[in-house]
Amino acid sequence: MYKFQKDRFQKNRGGASRVLDVTCDHCGQHLTYYQKDGPGMLKRMYVDRFIDYRPEGDKLACQSCGRELGLIMNYKKEDRLAYRLFAGAVNKKIISQNKLP
Ligand SMILES: [Zn+2]
Repeated sequence: MYKFQKDRFQKNRGGASRVLDVTCDHCGQHLTYYQKDGPGMLKRMYVDRFIDYRPEGDKLACQSCGRELGLIMNYKKEDRLAYRLFAGAVNKKIISQNKLP
């Protein structure tokens, strides 16, 4: 079962996390499972929270249709790499962490 990463980043966001199933809005293909820390919208996807996919490079793209979904950035407050998502680029669904392989 997937174990949530518990670190200062998680603590900063209130210590509660969920697993999101993130899919491409364009073609519907699964992109990754993702640990979302704390409440609020998914605007950035931190590289260290991807669960079943290791993104590389400046762009986050759908592995199926190639659509660009976001651009790499450094979240300065935490000196932490993330992809800033384009508006409406992905869909997400909360799933139980027990459902993960
Ligand atoms: Zn796609």
